[in-house]
Amino acid sequence: MIVHKFGGTSVGDARRFANVADIVIENHQQANGTVVVVSAMSGVTNQLIAGARAAAEGRDTVYREIKAGLLARHLEAVEALLNHSPERLDVGGLVEDRLHELERLYRSIAVLGELTARGRDVVASFGEQLSVNILAAVLRERGVRAQAVSATELLVTDDNFGTAAPLMDQTRARLQQRVRPLVERGVIPVITGYIGATEQGVTTTLGRGGSDFSAALVGAGLDADAVWIWSDVDGILTADPNVVPQARTLAELSYVEAANLAYFGADVLHPKTIRPVVASGIPLRILNSFNPTHPGTWIVETTNPGRELLPAIISTAGLSLIAIGSQDDSWTLDMATRALQRLSEAAVDVLMFSQSFSEHSLNLVVREQDQAHCSKILGREFENDGPSPTCNLGTKEQVATISVVGVPGWNDTGIIPHAFAALGKHGTRVIAVTQAATEHSVSFCIPEEQMADTVRYLHRELGLEGQDE
Ligand code: ASP
Ligand code: MG
Repeated sequence: MIVHKFGGTSVGDARRFANVADIVIENHQQANGTVVVVSAMSGVTNQLIAGARAAAEGRDTVYREIKAGLLARHLEAVEALLNHSPERLDVGGLVEDRLHELERLYRSIAVLGELTARGRDVVASFGEQLSVNILAAVLRERGVRAQAVSATELLVTDDNFGTAAPLMDQTRARLQQRVRPLVERGVIPVITGYIGATEQGVTTTLGRGGSDFSAALVGAGLDADAVWIWSDVDGILTADPNVVPQARTLAELSYVEAANLAYFGADVLHPKTIRPVVASGIPLRILNSFNPTHPGTWIVETTNPGRELLPAIISTAGLSLIAIGSQDDSWTLDMATRALQRLSEAAVDVLMFSQSFSEHSLNLVVREQDQAHCSKILGREFENDGPSPTCNLGTKEQVATISVVGVPGWNDTGIIPHAFAALGKHGTRVIAVTQAATEHSVSFCIPEEQMADTVRYLHRELGLEGQDE
């Protein structure tokens, strides 16, 4: 049995949905059972959450427009994919009903004037609920037996809203009881990524980008032969191929190496994805739904001793840096803790942070779309600290991060001096740095406009431009 996971860009529009259906059907013919896990259409989760924040702030037109946009986009996909199918009315009706429900939820958030973590998770779960129903209908339309299944019935989690942790025994029992029989009857279950529910049935989410994690949990709970994660690049590469066309695919990685790369933000894999499959040694494979014949990257328990070891450069654009500091020496570690705690409660991912004691400040890197929200939360947290403001908040927009992740044994002097030297030579302006305790990786926050050039330069300087294959 193979568990296939498709991310948001793989189901970004009607054509992409059709392409996913092709991939699923083709692989299903050769597999001994197929399970599919799907994300929301690209950008949908961001919009759902933006709508909830707007509702809590009483910006009615904003959330209404978001709901209308989501309705139009999903119906357009349904129309294009199921135009001649009897499924069209059912799925179209379901999309309308769900989005009607979303608007009701937004309205109640607006009435309360407050967005709780629990409410935010319910809102954020709508995207996957829509995409699974569309994909299952498209598969049925093509003559395959498929059934949409909500992971709220399968993935049992704690009630840590925004980053819920799975309760593996219960999850396994439910998967065995509800999903295995479908697979044995030749039905393809199409399961929502990213979401789950508490034992009491309250909807939770596993964290942004969590559909990969869902797929690994489903694979582990069903004792699958492998989990294949379909994204939009040819596996895990030495650099983002959209920035460095010569980037090379890492053909094989160990669980530890892959977890390390994922931790540094390799977008193709959520950092929590590895843990569920390690115990049972289930291989993961990263593939490109836009280029399905490429072998991609295998992530396995025991790597081939002859494989080539290469470092990787991971870059992320579209970020903002928030600096919190104090003019005097009143900055304490406790203030950093409070800042991180508040952001964690708001389920905002902090992608990088560095703390400077000599400058009495903390630098936090967050996604652009979270910046205004973060500044508001932090402003509120520190405004009551004293009669005169001891804390000031500054933001720098349009920043990017670059992480260089080495592998032990790649180069005797390690990767960090090489990375620093290359950035210096290139003249990249470094805004903040963090270095891992292992000495094998380092991350830089730099101006976004310098990112592409810097990544290309680093890739060349580190000698990663060899021939693929
Ligand atoms: N749709 C969710 C998100 O955007 C989960 C995922 O895409 O993996 O975070
Ligand atoms: Mg992802």
